[in-house]
Amino acid sequence: MEKQDQLLMKKQNKNLVLDIIKNKSPISRMEISKITGMSPTSITRIVHELHEQGFVRETELVTSGVGRKATLLDVYDDVLYTIGVEIDRLIVKVGIVNYIGEIISFESMTRDVTENYSDTLEKLNNCIKELMTEKDIRTEKILGIAVGLPGFIDYKNGIVKVSDQLGWKNANLANDLKKHTGFEVIVDNELKMKIVAENFMGMAKDSLNAVLVGIGSGIGSALILNGEIYRGESNNAGEIGHTVIDPTGNVCSCGKIGCLATYISEAAILADSRKVKDVQSIDDVFDSYRNGESWAINILDRTSTYIALAISNILCLYNPEVIILSGNTIKKFPEIKEAIEKKCDLYIWEPLKEKVKIVYSMFTDRGVVLGAAIQAQNTLLDLE
Ligand SMILES: [Zn+2]
Repeated sequence: MEKQDQLLMKKQNKNLVLDIIKNKSPISRMEISKITGMSPTSITRIVHELHEQGFVRETELVTSGVGRKATLLDVYDDVLYTIGVEIDRLIVKVGIVNYIGEIISFESMTRDVTENYSDTLEKLNNCIKELMTEKDIRTEKILGIAVGLPGFIDYKNGIVKVSDQLGWKNANLANDLKKHTGFEVIVDNELKMKIVAENFMGMAKDSLNAVLVGIGSGIGSALILNGEIYRGESNNAGEIGHTVIDPTGNVCSCGKIGCLATYISEAAILADSRKVKDVQSIDDVFDSYRNGESWAINILDRTSTYIALAISNILCLYNPEVIILSGNTIKKFPEIKEAIEKKCDLYIWEPLKEKVKIVYSMFTDRGVVLGAAIQAQNTLLDLE
């Protein structure tokens, strides 16, 4: 074996052992050896290294059947922290997350639609520093920051190519935020960050094939295929909002005609509603539905139809075990769930129906922040 390969394998083994201790603690060295197939000697060596690096500690002694004592292992939850950030049109959220994925500190700030890029970064930096001071977390303990936001993101370089919602174009966010804060920064689309949280502790926990669909002011999805985020060639895989469902339909902000978003996004629902009634916000439309106004019932019935069609198309393309629906429309208008489920039953191709679970995100408002922080850990942690 080449020296490079040996080093890589050593690193992978170490990561694997640490992951197992983190996820299955308290656990004995013997159990880790059984799970990994590595020799007890190797496990003892790796555990020793991880202990020296401050990740792993010995906890209680338990009696193992024949009267021998076995020492169990656990991780230090405060060995490091990551910072998860969500930037949306009208709100910025920040959370400090510990090594075992608990949000230990959280803050949300309003954002004015006219607020410019550098002001948002400045505010973000101040908020991060305040939260660190409040929890007495030293700079060396912070592994890095991850930001989730709506838009087309160059994930590798941390560049926001286009975010219509934020009004940003070709913004070098990873670099600029690093300059402000001094921390390493990664950037990704908000739904890709959120599905990491779903995969870590939400509705797609430990799932190998899952889809998260976001339905609200924007329409999109994120995919986990074979246990990993599926990005496609330019990180745009999952952008279902711009799949065309009617070539003779409505004009989309992207310039095409008949995109899915033009039927189910908040703006689309509002635009159609205003042809009938002078509604101020999406909440007014939902209220009109609840009052039994037929125009609102019709518009939202059509919305549920198109959502169900989108779900059935996603299932045919990716065959996931779970599809999670999230976003403001689902949150503010839970009545739509029943309609979506009924129509899914009608539209989904039989062979796919049996296996798939259609569920709703449990994260209310911290999913992106948590997922981002977990993703920062996954990406930035280098054990060597
Ligand atoms: Zn479009």
